Amino acid sequence: MSKQVVTVNPATDEVIESFDAMEWDEVSSLMSSAVEAQAAWRHSELSERSDKLRKLGQILRDDVEHHATLISREMGKPISEARGEVLKCALACDYYADNLVEFLTPKPVKTEAVKSYVSYEPLGVIFAVMPWNFPYWQVIRFAAPTLAAGNGGILKHASNVTGSAIAIQHAIEKAGFPKHLFTSLVVADHSMVSKIVEDDRIAAVTLTGSEKAGASVAEAAGRALKKTVLELGGSDPFVILEDADSAAIAPFAVKARFINTGQSCLCAKRFIVADNLIDDFEGRIKALVEALKIGDPLDPSTQLGPLAKKAFVDDIDKQVQDSLAMGARLVTGGYRIEGPGNFYAPTILADVTPEMPVFKQETFGPVLALVGANSSEQAINLANTTQYGLAASIWTKDPSIGVKLGAGISSGALFVNGVVASDPRLPFGGVKLSGYGRELSIEGLHEFMNVRAVWIGEMPTL
Ligand code: NAP
Repeated sequence: MSKQVVTVNPATDEVIESFDAMEWDEVSSLMSSAVEAQAAWRHSELSERSDKLRKLGQILRDDVEHHATLISREMGKPISEARGEVLKCALACDYYADNLVEFLTPKPVKTEAVKSYVSYEPLGVIFAVMPWNFPYWQVIRFAAPTLAAGNGGILKHASNVTGSAIAIQHAIEKAGFPKHLFTSLVVADHSMVSKIVEDDRIAAVTLTGSEKAGASVAEAAGRALKKTVLELGGSDPFVILEDADSAAIAPFAVKARFINTGQSCLCAKRFIVADNLIDDFEGRIKALVEALKIGDPLDPSTQLGPLAKKAFVDDIDKQVQDSLAMGARLVTGGYRIEGPGNFYAPTILADVTPEMPVFKQETFGPVLALVGANSSEQAINLANTTQYGLAASIWTKDPSIGVKLGAGISSGALFVNGVVASDPRLPFGGVKLSGYGRELSIEGLHEFMNVRAVWIGEMPTL
């Protein structure tokens, strides 16, 4: 009997569905079919790729309720955010549909040749290992540029969102992309992931997830000398300088930390606030956090859902309790909510120092760490006191100061006076332990292409 992959509703603990995990023979046959489909697709007209991407965007918009409900049930995201996620996927499809011709048109380069240019050619079938926290967005931001590039895609999604993985494959097929060009696998065993990575039919690999998973996949890819893109964890700083208006910023801070119930790589996690503002800021965010509505993700008024897996409640509680034991001050929250589901009270810890787990480690849940800074220099030093480097935001009345100081923070993105968010038009990725390579924008499209130099001269004559 084959192994089962079971999805569980994180708000109720009820089993949603049980899926038969694929055996190697089935996975192997799907990889061969993907290679065959991609061999034809690589020659497709750019206009055909654009049309299908646009259709995919329309399908996601038309069926937004269906997809958003699936997301909320499988991983607990509040339905209003799940709708936003699906619509953002549609935007990414439109973005690549609109810009494909510009991005893939060969670029002439002046050399001694009669003609020379850079062309952008597909690589083959790309393997993606994806996480559950944005079950549609993580996949579409891989799939849209992959298919646009003329590549094929094989997806191993997080097992707790298997229903979403299958629904995305169906939507891609419904949009008219060739059968088997994009396939969602149902995999029960991580050892199969390494076997797929090393298989000759896979051209390159992308993973979004934890450092542990990233290291394992990159190791297998390294053995096979394959290109990887890794999008890993983050502990983004949210820096408030002394000239800022803490009252105006407070609602943005709460959004930046508590969106997706705090389970986002680019949620702001460490709030570094100028000493002259910190008391006022603490009072304001306390009031806003205590007013957040926690509960059923399918209720449109819910702002905070459950954590996606049972074990995450223990993980986040340990980070909070250990930080309290090291001297952090509890402003609000700090406890698990009893009853069915994986609910944790939204929490603020103040007087946090860099040695504490809520500063040092990535916190993947609704916990905000507040740290005072006695100068801009100290704020930037604290922002950099991390092994991560995904994004950073800095808040000040003078954006030019924000840019200047922000340049001193190591991160893949810098936002001045804005909540960090991924955007199809901007490249996305990290430095340090947050990973390498870029997704989205033209950079994300070219990551998995053969950027080829073409040099054409006259036939020499005697
Ligand atoms: P995870 O445990 O690493 O899982 C991510 C994916 O990797 C899942 O498909 C998982 O499969 C698979 N996986 C896990 N361990 C593996 C291994 N040893 N070998 C092969 N595959 C493996 O991460 P998560 O808890 O789902 O997601 C949270 C992490 O992702 C956080 O660190 C977060 O910051 C990061 N993240 C980063 C970004 C970014 O863009 N930088 C975006 C979102 C999330 P199973 O589900 O079957 O275990």
